Amino acid sequence: MSGVNTAGWRPSMNEVAPGDMVPATQSGDRALMLEEALIFELGCEGQTGVDIEPASKAVSPALAKFRRKAAPALPGLSEPEAVRHYTRLSRQNYGIDLGPFPLGSCTMKHNPRLNEKMARLPGFADVHPLQPQKTVEGALEVIEQLADWLMKLTGMASVAMSPKAGAHGELCGLLCIRAALDARGESREIVLVPESAHGTNPATAAFAGFKVQAIPATPEGRVDLEALKEKLGPDVAGVMITNPNTCGLFEPDLKEIADAVHEVGGYVYCDGANFNAIVGRVRPGDLGVDAMHINLHKTFSTPHGGGGPGAGPVVLSEALAPYAPLPFVTRGEDGEVRLVEEENRGEGHERAFGRMVAFHGQMGMFTRALAYILSHGADGLKQVSEDAVLNANYILRSLEDVLEAPFGKSGPCMHEALFSDAGLPEGISTLDIAKGLIDEGFHPMTVYFPLVVKGAMLIEPTETESKQGLDRFIASMRNLAQRAREQDESLHTAPHFAPRRRLDETRAARKPVLVWKGDEAA
Ligand SMILES: *Cc1c(COP(=O)(O)O)cnc(C)c1O
Repeated sequence: MSGVNTAGWRPSMNEVAPGDMVPATQSGDRALMLEEALIFELGCEGQTGVDIEPASKAVSPALAKFRRKAAPALPGLSEPEAVRHYTRLSRQNYGIDLGPFPLGSCTMKHNPRLNEKMARLPGFADVHPLQPQKTVEGALEVIEQLADWLMKLTGMASVAMSPKAGAHGELCGLLCIRAALDARGESREIVLVPESAHGTNPATAAFAGFKVQAIPATPEGRVDLEALKEKLGPDVAGVMITNPNTCGLFEPDLKEIADAVHEVGGYVYCDGANFNAIVGRVRPGDLGVDAMHINLHKTFSTPHGGGGPGAGPVVLSEALAPYAPLPFVTRGEDGEVRLVEEENRGEGHERAFGRMVAFHGQMGMFTRALAYILSHGADGLKQVSEDAVLNANYILRSLEDVLEAPFGKSGPCMHEALFSDAGLPEGISTLDIAKGLIDEGFHPMTVYFPLVVKGAMLIEPTETESKQGLDRFIASMRNLAQRAREQDESLHTAPHFAPRRRLDETRAARKPVLVWKGDEAA
């Protein structure tokens, strides 16, 4: 590390790699790659972008018995400094609007601008959940229409709209199963979860008070039906199965699994995070599913994270529908849509297990998802899943000669292509390829998941990438595989061109430093 730095600016943490003759700059910036200090390290005390009147003497500086001992340690920045700070930070981020985001299992598809336009209409954006129902009929209509589409697309009897993410939906589904078992006077304890499941599945089952038992995978990457059947018995509350599964493969035995589970009195939870691969083509209700969450932020193109929260409605079978949490919308015989709440739950809804959230869920996401569905129509949604699967298979077949594809021989994949580091030379790992991809200007794929494949690389292109875009990505991946085969040492230190090199990610996750403690902490 080198470079003299003016006050407030930290030296670049990008040490120059041996052999890459790049001189350090005085500022730490490199052309358009700008360094940025914490906001507390910028500006100076007392500086502000607005004029504030001195406080009146009549206002007490104390709040009850509490009196401030020192001035608040607020960063003092002028308006242009504040604007530059956040703009500089925003440029260090990678997002779906910058380039492909091939994170497997995440369905990072383009967020259509039409969705945003609809969600920003004041009639949707400015409503309040405590407004009288008469004044929000349009919003309730949006929720009801979306609910109707979700039920039709999945072939299910009912849908709980309020859960706020996939994992929250899993909890909602398992609480419905728990309520249904309670109603039967049974206290079944075991939930079976395949080894390849997303971590949220066993975590949710444990959180809901069940004991988790793992179901092994076959060498072809699917649920081992015989092993599952052996575990079935009167203690089994249900199974949680992902279809298509996290190896990117369809589970053709799901109907048989569901029948066997129902035969012993259990329920079938389907993790619907991968619904994008089958939407418009397969209805999970026809496969015997009792509950399934739908990540609106995956299949239905609403933003993940930064642009807005997620939403994880849960579709339910006839058997579980009576236990759905409050509140929900129904359409009465008069065609009017109303919100069913604690005070008007009425007949048929006495058994609702409680509620997942204070109000009815993520209105902004409902509006975006419905805009997406209506702009595609039923035929368009069918094409979405076809194109998503086609794109993933294009990647699978374009890379399988240079990267090991553990299930490549078992036929086409669904919407994501799975590779592993098995064929790479000794010492080169999945991590090296993922970090190299950052230098190539792509967000890395999902790495080391699913756990059933050692050194897994799970690539999900989604249908919104063009053939030219996929070809660029494939060319970069082939180049990285070539460098790996040539034992290119520089892969171990990639990324070389990112604002930061290799971070101690474990420490960052386990011991995040979230509070500015002044200069002594630096
Ligand atoms: C994304 C995902 C989840 C969790 O969904 P969130 O909305 O992130 O809570 C669960 N299972 C699978 C397979 C997923 O890909």
